[in-house]
Amino acid sequence: MDRIILIKYGELTTKKGNRKLFIDTLYKNINLKLKKMDVVITRDMSRMYIEYDSSVEDIIISKIKEVFGIHAFLIAHKTETDIDSIKNTVLEVLKNNISKDDITFKVETKRSYKKFVMDSGEVNHAIGGLVLKNFSNMKVDVHSPMLTVHIEIRENNSYVYLNEYKGLGGYPVGTLGHGMLMLSGGIDSPVAGYLAIKRGIKLDLVYFEAIPHTSLEARSKVINLAKKLSIYGGEMRLIIVPFTKLQTSIYKNVLENYPITIMRRMMYRIMEKLSLRFKSLAIINGESVGQVASQTLTSMNVINSVTNIPVIRPVACLDKLEIIDIAKKIDTYDISILPYEDCCTVFVPRHPIINPSLDKCLEMESKFDYESLIDEIMDNLLILKIDENYEEDKYNDVL
Ligand code: ATP
Ligand code: MG
Repeated sequence: MDRIILIKYGELTTKKGNRKLFIDTLYKNINLKLKKMDVVITRDMSRMYIEYDSSVEDIIISKIKEVFGIHAFLIAHKTETDIDSIKNTVLEVLKNNISKDDITFKVETKRSYKKFVMDSGEVNHAIGGLVLKNFSNMKVDVHSPMLTVHIEIRENNSYVYLNEYKGLGGYPVGTLGHGMLMLSGGIDSPVAGYLAIKRGIKLDLVYFEAIPHTSLEARSKVINLAKKLSIYGGEMRLIIVPFTKLQTSIYKNVLENYPITIMRRMMYRIMEKLSLRFKSLAIINGESVGQVASQTLTSMNVINSVTNIPVIRPVACLDKLEIIDIAKKIDTYDISILPYEDCCTVFVPRHPIINPSLDKCLEMESKFDYESLIDEIMDNLLILKIDENYEEDKYNDVL
């Protein structure tokens, strides 16, 4: 193994009390990500190290870029701890990584092996001279160089590396507990899920389905969105809620412009029951203030009042275009814009109310026995376990 990635933890290092949990979780998540690969992963309180062979570098880097909790990382080239080997490695690294344009640089040496024959100043000098001799486009600038050649001298091996790369940031998934995402086939909810995962929340996913008004293609769409989310969030349950009977009953029993409001109150009631059953501490969804009638502040109050569990709305204050930007970045956009309708769009009334009254909701809800319909739903959930490689014809994968 001739390469090593050094991972910087970033934000998590500021959370002193949780530091061990964060590092242990990140270690576990990186191990899961690189499960079948030939790597050696080690850690200490300030860094994590992944040793690997340069032939698999591209795939390792692409996977590291999918892990939350990594603030920055750098790719170091391993060499022997003697000055000739270090010099050769520096030349090789520069040859492969710099352009022909003018570049200012400096050399920075960290010598943790104190018995090394040269001190760090001498190494800086020797390597600086070597670079100047071999690359006519490079000039020294010790104050604000465009490029820093880092050399780390340790007892067994030494390392040469150039600039660091940005990681995804956020917290390691699982460090902030467990939440449930209401995942529809739209653009907003996958983005909301991604942002919740970013803050370290381990997700389960809940999809309200209204077969035969919605199709199995709509379900496939949700499964494909779930697979995209599991790239970042790891394996997750997808709980498919059979919503048809309750939804039909809502439409029979409530006034013309109230079905969406009541339907969403039912969704929240079911989310609360699911949260208790699956030990989730938060409901997460893709509501965005003002986007549709059910997302005015008045509507949100009336809908939210059926539960005391915190509802997190990561995209609440983003514009649609900002949400779309993220959806494109995480590759869910093209799936979300496929035409299959989910349960909400099928039943949307012509004029959904934007200022619903709580009293009216309560009055309409008192006219039908929604509670037993909810109990029936809770007895008939379909639960799939999804990861990024999930194959859909394995529907027998039911738990
Ligand atoms: P769009 O991107 O078109 O706005 P959406 O998924 O955001 O689609 P909304 O009607 O705005 O749809 O619903 C608000 C939120 O409610 C969604 O982001 C999602 O979290 C949740 N939701 C809506 N329908 C469903 C459903 N069928 N199953 C699970 N969650 C749903
Ligand atoms: Mg929306």
